[in-house]
Formats: sequence, C-alpha cells, structure tokens
Amino acid sequence: MSHVFARHSKSAPRKAVRGAGVYMYDTDGRAYFDGSGGAAVSCLGHGDADVIAAVQAQVAQLSYAHTSFFTSDPAEELADRLVADAPGDLDKVYFVSGGSEAVEAALKLARQYFVEIDQPQRHRFIARRQSYHGNTLGALATGGNQWRKQAFAPIMTETSLIAPCYAYRGQRDDETPFDYGQRVANELETELLRLGPDTVIAFVAEPVVGATLGAVPPVEGYFKRIREICDQYGVLLILDEVMCGMGRTGTLFAHEQEGITADIVTIAKGLGAGYQPIGAMMCTAAIHQAIADGTGFFQHGHTYIGHPTACAAGNAVVKKLTAGLVERSATMGARLQDALVAEFGQHPHIGDIRGRGLFRGLEVVADRSGKTPFDPALGVNKQIKQTAMDNGLACYPMGGTVDGQMGDHVLLAPPFILEDHHIDEIVTKLKQTFDAVL
Ligand code: PLP
Repeated sequence: MSHVFARHSKSAPRKAVRGAGVYMYDTDGRAYFDGSGGAAVSCLGHGDADVIAAVQAQVAQLSYAHTSFFTSDPAEELADRLVADAPGDLDKVYFVSGGSEAVEAALKLARQYFVEIDQPQRHRFIARRQSYHGNTLGALATGGNQWRKQAFAPIMTETSLIAPCYAYRGQRDDETPFDYGQRVANELETELLRLGPDTVIAFVAEPVVGATLGAVPPVEGYFKRIREICDQYGVLLILDEVMCGMGRTGTLFAHEQEGITADIVTIAKGLGAGYQPIGAMMCTAAIHQAIADGTGFFQHGHTYIGHPTACAAGNAVVKKLTAGLVERSATMGARLQDALVAEFGQHPHIGDIRGRGLFRGLEVVADRSGKTPFDPALGVNKQIKQTAMDNGLACYPMGGTVDGQMGDHVLLAPPFILEDHHIDEIVTKLKQTFDAVL
C-alpha cells in the first residue's frame, strides 16, 4: 500500500524507473514512447547528458542560495539569455518553480503595478473560457476550465471570462477566419465596457491553448485586435506560455508568431525540460520601473525562487533550444501534422487536427459532419489514455473540450529530438488505440 497521495485514489499509476531519449520504462521494463512529455514538459527527451552535467556541476558548486540574501551566476545568466531572445520589451525575469507560481506572480505583479502608479481601483482580471492557468487559487480563478474550478468556486475571486478563439467550433459559416477572430476579440472590449475599463487590471490568455482545448492556435489578427483593445483601455496583456512557450510551437516564444508584444509573459514546463522544476514570469522594463520608482519591493516571494540548480538546468536547456531545437520543433511538427492528416484526416471520429510545431491536438467526435461530441459518460478520453499506455504510447487525452463537460481531444507534445520513424510510431500506436476505443 503506497503512502504517496496519488492523483487518483481508485487506480494506481504505473511506476516509471528510467528514461532514455524519447522513451520511458516501467518496473516491468515496458517502454513507452513519450508522446506528450508528460504535460508538454520533456522537450529534450530523457537522459540529456549536457543538462545532467550542468545540474550535477551546479549542485556541487552551490546548491542553494536564498534570493533575499544572494543572486547567483546561473540565475543572472538565464535571465540574460531569456531577455536576449524574448520579443518586445520584456526585460526582467522573476524565477519560480513551476507554471502556477509563474501565473500567481504575474497576477500579483500586475495588480501591484497599478497600485504603484496610483490606479488602485483596478482590481479585476478578464480571461477566457476553456483556458487553464494553473491550480493555485489565483491561477485557478483566472482559468476557464469549469470542472477544475467548480468545487472551489466559493473560495475564489471572480474572473470575467470571454470566448476563446476556437475556430473549429466558434466560426460561423458566413464569416472568414479573420472576421471570426475580430468578433471574439471584440468580446474583450464589450466586457471591459460592461465592467468599467478603469477597474480592470489585465487580460490573460494562452497564445496557443493547451490542456483544455488541445493545441488550438488563434486565427490571424485575433491577438493584434486584443493588443489594440488592451492599449486603448490601459489594460495589461498577460500571455501564459507555460505550456506553449519555449519552442513548443516552433518559435521560442509562442506569441512571436502573432506579431504582438506582451506586458507580462509566463513560462515553465519546457524551461526546465523536466530536469528541474523551474518557471518564470517576465515583465517589461516599464512595469519593473514602476515598482522601482515606488515601493521598490515586489510584495511576493517563495523560498525556492531563483534556485541556482534549477537555473543551471534552464541555461543548459535554453542553450540547446536556441542552438537548433526550436527550428526542429517547427519542421518536425509540420511533418507530424502531415502524418496525422494522412492517417486520420478522413477518420469518422476525428473532427479536427490542429496545432503548431510539436504541439498538436486531435479532436475526437462521435459524428464528424455534425461535430457531435461523444457522451461524456463514456469516458472516451480516459479509455484512449489507458489503451494508448497499453500500446506503449504516453499521450495526453482530456475531456470537456467543447464546454468543460462535453468533448474529447488528444494532445501530442513529443520531445524535439524525435526522428521521422518516431512519427510513424506515434501514428501507428494512435491508430491501434483509436481502432480499439472508437
Ligand atoms: N498555465 C498553463 C497554460 C498550463 O498549461 C499549466 C499546466 O498545465 C499551468 C499554467 C500550471 O503549471 P504547473 O502545473 O507547472 O503549476
């Protein structure tokens, strides 16, 4: 009997003992192709010698230094590296230990910024339905994933939620993708006017929606319009790249592809690639300056922020990403998309195949022409996850795609080091799984 408080009490997870390249192995020696890097984490695969060496060297040199006493070389180097490669005016990096912490830091910094610049009446956030920003109370409140929120609603702050940019289901027959994007972006303006624009702190969104929708990119022009509205009403734009950032979509920062700049960006997952728990919140020089000119102190902090060993892993990871692996995510991602479309493009139960780079989603439907989802009571996504594991493929299926209740999708986020034959392996194992479940 395990004393670990597992995610599920009614089923025991398999035990992983080893990882090598794109595979993970359990106690029986069974291999699993790591088709989703857990939850889009393991972008370098397992056992990367350079990252391991960097972590080992740092832990021997200086394993820990509390940030209220010291900075450290790995933290300084990683901040320089991220700022040098970031789009727009992002200039300061606040290191944390994961995605939810990065989002909490972003929300608090955005609020404190307005307190510092004498706009304390701004106290609201607007975000989107069908988004996920983490499981801590502030991040959970900002997310639009209803089943994750329901039980905790009475103890969370209220956030306004507008429509996601989800063309497969939202775009009407009489509008172009661009017009659709403008229509849903304009919901931000409508909501701002309803709330009173000067009461709103920020709009929060994932550039490419991950866990909740299954790798859904925005349509052309959507984020440009969002940026315009934020500027018009003095509202900050917080982009959550915890899942879609760090090369996952084929550019180091996902929002580079939208031609916009952000005020605050959160990253995590691929930043440590699973070798260390690390995340970061990045903000513009202007936001940081407001704090510096005011109280001079961001009212935040955790014991493990700026952890030198975690930052050493981050440096080793980002070095590899920027030395060619981000481009590899783009090219291999396009090949993966082609292979998925070739095999499942006409599949009666696959309604949509989407994504960018090595971040791909397949939406599973009962009826392709009507886009009708399966009855959630069937637990199709759970069956796919289980059967895929039995077939030696770890992927990331999820339910509630349509509205938090209905709908199923499968998210793929394999390591950037995969080869062409691994794409065949993913498609073959997915086909076996769909044949059995659907
Ligand atoms: N934001 C996004 C977009 C995510 O996908 C996630 C996790 O899946 C989080 C935040 C929370 O990150 P973490 O699980 O590391 O706390």
